Amino acid sequence: MKAIDVIEKKASGQILNYEDIKYMVNSYVKGKISDKTMSDFLWLIYNNGLTIEETINLTDVMINSGETIDLSSLGKPVVDKHSTGGVGDKITLIVSPIVAAAGVCVPKMSGRGLGLTGGTVDKLESIPGYKLNLSKKQFLDELKHVGCAVISQSEKIAVADKKIYALRNEIGAVDSIPLIASSIMSKKIASGSDTIVIDLKVGKGAFMKNIKEATRLAKTMVKIGKHYNKKVVCTLSDMNIPLGRNIGNALEVREAMNFFAGKHDKRLYELSVYISALMISTAKGISFRKSKEIVLNLLENGYAKTIFYKWIKYQGGDLTKLKEKAKKFIVTSEESGYVNSIDSNKIAQIVFDLGAGRVKKTDKIDYAVGLVLNKQLGEKVYKGESLAVIYYNKKVQDMEKKVLDAFKIDKKKRQVKKIIISTIK
Ligand code: URA
Repeated sequence: MKAIDVIEKKASGQILNYEDIKYMVNSYVKGKISDKTMSDFLWLIYNNGLTIEETINLTDVMINSGETIDLSSLGKPVVDKHSTGGVGDKITLIVSPIVAAAGVCVPKMSGRGLGLTGGTVDKLESIPGYKLNLSKKQFLDELKHVGCAVISQSEKIAVADKKIYALRNEIGAVDSIPLIASSIMSKKIASGSDTIVIDLKVGKGAFMKNIKEATRLAKTMVKIGKHYNKKVVCTLSDMNIPLGRNIGNALEVREAMNFFAGKHDKRLYELSVYISALMISTAKGISFRKSKEIVLNLLENGYAKTIFYKWIKYQGGDLTKLKEKAKKFIVTSEESGYVNSIDSNKIAQIVFDLGAGRVKKTDKIDYAVGLVLNKQLGEKVYKGESLAVIYYNKKVQDMEKKVLDAFKIDKKKRQVKKIIISTIK
């Protein structure tokens, strides 16, 4: 077989079989075909799409390109959660201990952020001592003792996806539904959970900009899950507005701590309770209503908070030494009115310019910097009142103006859009 034959087959509109896809992916991983040839192949997929069978075959080849994890020894229901990433998205830090407190194991392998915002791994690295690399045995032990564990994505899982995803990022071929679906699902299926809940972000601060495309992506991931006998549930949630109050790595860990201390932002609370209940109900096979009751109870009686602190300590983290050293600049409102919008893309750009994100995986980030939104969607603000606080170590040109520009304040209050758009099973 030759790469050019597979490329021509796809270009002429024929459907690729398992062997064609396996040949392309494995040859690329082994360095037998060049970045240029693989880019041509990826661009064809980007432009022409893949059938669901081709997408499943691509997922399968990527799963088999690395190790798979067997979680059956845990003897408990297990659920994995994935978020497609957004501005201020600290949901993993909140839902993992809640779900673990309900007796459902949460084995999470997370990534570093690329582009505008930090990933879960970056947020956890803002906690001194937190160990992100555990052996398989340590990972399983923690799941037995604590119920949740969050480590960095193993280099050995879905090896082909890692190489292909990096190339897609480089050539700008990320937002293709079959490529995203197979990339996410190959990692999730290889990681061993029978139940997977995906929080698919939609809007300005997400890579899925509209509900129609996000729904297609969700349906594709659910179909892939069915093929592997996995329960996959996808929630579409709004990412036009940043999630919660704090954006920035240590600041988001602080917001998770505030959450467990009972101080929560309304939309963050709503989404956290919803995703936790969905994870529990899907993994345990009980009703959503019952699961939500369990979640509210665990928050009320403090057990979810106990698990949060137990988890961070078990992985060596010291929350009293959070990397929060930064100067503060208060941005005050120039008018009175209601906050009708906060542009999450603009907010992400400011936080990135402050130093909280990276372009290349090897770039250094500043864990302490970011923004705290003192006013969120739908809230009243008076002229001269604090809208936001900038945490900075190096000043960014026009940073105050940029924050003011991200807020839309009107005399009349607009109806606040719901954070949860739909759920696809
Ligand atoms: N996240 C992934 O893991 N893969 C993609 O292709 C896009 C987002």
